[in-house]
Amino acid sequence: MRLHEYQSKEVFTDHHIPIPRGRLAATPEDAKLIAEELHGPVVLKAQVLMGGRGKAGGIRLVRSPDEAEEEAAKILGRQIKGIPVRRLLVEEAINIQQEIYLGLTIDRQKGQTLLIASAEGGVDIEEIARSYPEKIYQVGVNPLLGLCEYQARNLATEIEIPRHLWRQFNAIALNLYRAYLDLDATLAEINPLVITEQEQFVALDGKIGIDDNALFRHHNLVDKRDISGEALEEIEARKFGLAYIKLSGNIGCLVNGAGLAMATMDIIQHKGGKPANFLDIGGGASAEKVAAALRIILSDTQVETVLINIFGGITRCDEVAHGIRQTLQEIDPKIPFVIRLVGTNENEGRQIIENAELETAITLADAAEKAVALSLEPVP
Ligand code: GDP
Ligand code: MN
Repeated sequence: MRLHEYQSKEVFTDHHIPIPRGRLAATPEDAKLIAEELHGPVVLKAQVLMGGRGKAGGIRLVRSPDEAEEEAAKILGRQIKGIPVRRLLVEEAINIQQEIYLGLTIDRQKGQTLLIASAEGGVDIEEIARSYPEKIYQVGVNPLLGLCEYQARNLATEIEIPRHLWRQFNAIALNLYRAYLDLDATLAEINPLVITEQEQFVALDGKIGIDDNALFRHHNLVDKRDISGEALEEIEARKFGLAYIKLSGNIGCLVNGAGLAMATMDIIQHKGGKPANFLDIGGGASAEKVAAALRIILSDTQVETVLINIFGGITRCDEVAHGIRQTLQEIDPKIPFVIRLVGTNENEGRQIIENAELETAITLADAAEKAVALSLEPVP
């Protein structure tokens, strides 16, 4: 789950990381009012869950409350890369001396958290990472020791932060690490972290991503979840407790167990096909859950073949079959299905779907081969 900039900044404030003064506005009148309160130039920032708002026209610097109202009217309700702008963060404009990048994320290869910094933060950080990787500095964080003061200081030296600002920089790095831990984050990023002309550090932008598996510990944040930028299928899947990730192929996969789901995708690829999704219905799924899963797969217009691969343990094949039949009666998709049901109650399961004239398979290799062959046939 991703937090909005304004939500990330609330987290920063809770963790003593300085941010510009400002508030959220939902209307142009609000924006004007806030600009009046702030006395002076303000920045209007579209609250949409996506990077590169600046370049997409979602960030405006304005000189007066009237101008704030005028510009807010132009941005509010408009779409930025397909996502409607409902709220603006109206903040005092900051005089920038330098823009720094500071972020924490997980390095899955190394199995640890990385603290990343660059002296050249701002909107072109991706381009810098690509073209001048030597300008990006990283330190690994030992999970038992946590981020150590000396590591933050080393990083400050690497990115040539003036010595008299080390203390401020260290405090921000350590506080950001604290926030990252407290929120079970997978990403906590300040870009840009600016040094102002008054030699103060201020977090001008914030991006926090939280591990979905830890959301049960963060109810207050879940309630504020904004789904306007998420794929509809993924929202629906979450409602039913299904692990679904959309991919770019044309073979829809419905599988129980994450490992089996991955193996299924691998073997499809191996046989020359392309999976349309990862979908794990979990253990012991009910017919309703299976039906929901199948509806999600079928709502993807790229899907041209469906492969159902169930290895029944606590999951019962007859229950799955009920879910499949129920959905097919509802929707009647005009695409081929390949179904493999083995394990608990497999005979009962097969009987239920027998009449539906669906291709069945016993082994996974066979199932994948059939599905790939069907997926390569021209669509009628
Ligand atoms: P992003 O494009 O979504 O990453 O939005 P940011 O909040 O990072 O803003 C993009 C850029 O706008 C920053 O890198 C700054 O250069 C500029 N910017 C944002 N706020 C201010 C501000 O208060 N003053 C000035 N001078 N520039 C700002
Ligand atoms: Mn930014």
